[in-house]
Amino acid sequence: MSQGKIIIVTAPSGSGKTSIVRYLLDKYPQRLGFSISATTRKPRGNEVEGKDYYFLSEEVFKQKIRKNEFVEWEMVYEGKYYGTLESELTRLWGNGKTPVLDIDVKGALHIQQRFPKTAVSIFVEPPSVEELERRLKGRGTESKESLEARVNKAAYELSFKNHFNYTILNNDLEKACKEAESIITPLF
Ligand code: 5GP
Repeated sequence: MSQGKIIIVTAPSGSGKTSIVRYLLDKYPQRLGFSISATTRKPRGNEVEGKDYYFLSEEVFKQKIRKNEFVEWEMVYEGKYYGTLESELTRLWGNGKTPVLDIDVKGALHIQQRFPKTAVSIFVEPPSVEELERRLKGRGTESKESLEARVNKAAYELSFKNHFNYTILNNDLEKACKEAESIITPLF
């Protein structure tokens, strides 16, 4: 695999990393490309196959694990798999773009280990676990169980923040977006 750069944006769920990733992709569409992950979770309301995710059955996902098609994969939540396909990175590099990965903390650590020279990682820190819970509730996409799982996982994930190249505290989304921008633009 011929390797270009990789930008990883990671954070506990609900920290605002997806908004930051969107901002970067909208601002630099020629330079950056969203790395579309594969997942076995069901699509949410307005999510589109092949745009937000590649929605796969568990059987197909496991086949791809066996065939070594993932550069990283995780069971992010109980029974739900998520992973970055090698073909996705190759596709973006082939289009002259730097892949931007919006992935969980463990997956981000794996990508860093696998691409130590080419991956740049940004950890987005929520102001507090309480605030994160409030945001997740406000988003209204989670069941009570799923919300609880995400909040518990967040507290654990926060303990890894020092493993990443950069940390951004997201208590003001606009500022956080600008900060992310100032980290990535020198890479161009
Ligand atoms: P959601 O279900 O809210 O779309 O995503 C749940 C979590 O899975 C988020 O933290 C998201 O960043 C993470 N995620 C999405 N794609 C991947 C992936 O390819 N690999 C890993 N490890 N995590 C992912």
